[in-house]
Amino acid sequence: MMGSYAPPLTMLERGEGCYVWDVDGKRYLDFLAGIAVNSLGHGHPAIVAAVTKQVSTLVHVSNYFATPPQLELAERLKRITGAGDAGRVYFGNSGAEAMEAAFKLARLNNDGGRRTRIIALTNAFHGRTMGALSLTGKAAIRAPFEPLLAGVEHIEATVEALEKAIDDTVAAVVFEPIKGEAGVVDLPEGFITRARELTSEHGALLILDEIQTGVGRTGTWFAFEQFGIQPDAVAIAKGIAGGLPISALVTFGEASKLFQRGHHGSTFAGNPLATAAANAVLSEIESASLLDNAKARGEQIRDIVRSLNSPLVAEVRGRGLLIGIGLTSPIAAKVSAAALEAGLIINAANENSIRIAPPLVVGDDELAEFARLFAIALEAAQ
Ligand SMILES: *Cc1c(COP(=O)(O)O)cnc(C)c1O
Repeated sequence: MMGSYAPPLTMLERGEGCYVWDVDGKRYLDFLAGIAVNSLGHGHPAIVAAVTKQVSTLVHVSNYFATPPQLELAERLKRITGAGDAGRVYFGNSGAEAMEAAFKLARLNNDGGRRTRIIALTNAFHGRTMGALSLTGKAAIRAPFEPLLAGVEHIEATVEALEKAIDDTVAAVVFEPIKGEAGVVDLPEGFITRARELTSEHGALLILDEIQTGVGRTGTWFAFEQFGIQPDAVAIAKGIAGGLPISALVTFGEASKLFQRGHHGSTFAGNPLATAAANAVLSEIESASLLDNAKARGEQIRDIVRSLNSPLVAEVRGRGLLIGIGLTSPIAAKVSAAALEAGLIINAANENSIRIAPPLVVGDDELAEFARLFAIALEAAQ
């Protein structure tokens, strides 16, 4: 393996529901779900059935052709995003690819070359390919690869900074409704609605990266619904197909007219296998009321964390089942290592933050076990 990843935490072999087992047979409660990816947990029968059927029917044909699962998914995404008939869907294979498409969309909103600026946020994470990395606002992961793409400016997530930055030379404002990789950090009150007003006023696109917050993770299909706004484009990936690699950029209204034939493409993207898996996941989220489950379980997990009354916990952030736990000292790695040892997978998003993102199917038994194991981890890390 290339040296770009940290040494693996352990070697995992199989999974079922909210649990995974390592090669030595040790069982772990999976409260990370592959970083908010395994929406239905592991080995969910709906995904197994859909993928099994599709893999023996048609796996790949290239984008010279359409396939029924692809069009079904595009229709579904237009419906659940609220983009409706005026919406358009571009498929990719990863979050970064959806953001590359978003970057190109921003470039196309150039008003005859007058709009060249793209506003993003400090500490934002949008992926690691060069376009997505140019939007990413974390110096440590940008620095080795500079120079990055021109025109991107990173501002603090405040209404004042946004008001100061925006004018008619801005092509797009891009941000995550909750900063996931930064440790599940909520944006300040009023920021999202003001961003919508200002971008509309100045003809800039509002592009939301819901790669981590989307597809039910925060208790609604998309986090933007909770702020009463619609973006011009939304990027979707992680949780959409239960672990199969696929992403999408969905455009709304006039923004749907920007991409023209030949502007973008991908060989694998939107293939029938990945889109069939996504259809199965989205349909299960609806039929099993998993949006409500994410909302309710999220509250319960917050209550559990608070009721532990640990001196290590400073605050609890996020929405639904995307939860950030701010620690009182930089011991997140120690807490997550102790959790792993106890049989619980959680994530040290940074030195001071624990990130929790269990499968959306999480239930009473898993919550009770989480309470027990997380208490052990906090105790061990003290
Ligand atoms: C994970 C993530 C990405 C990048 O997705 P990849 O599939 O790793 O390329 C981009 N934006 C956000 C908000 C993410 O959480």
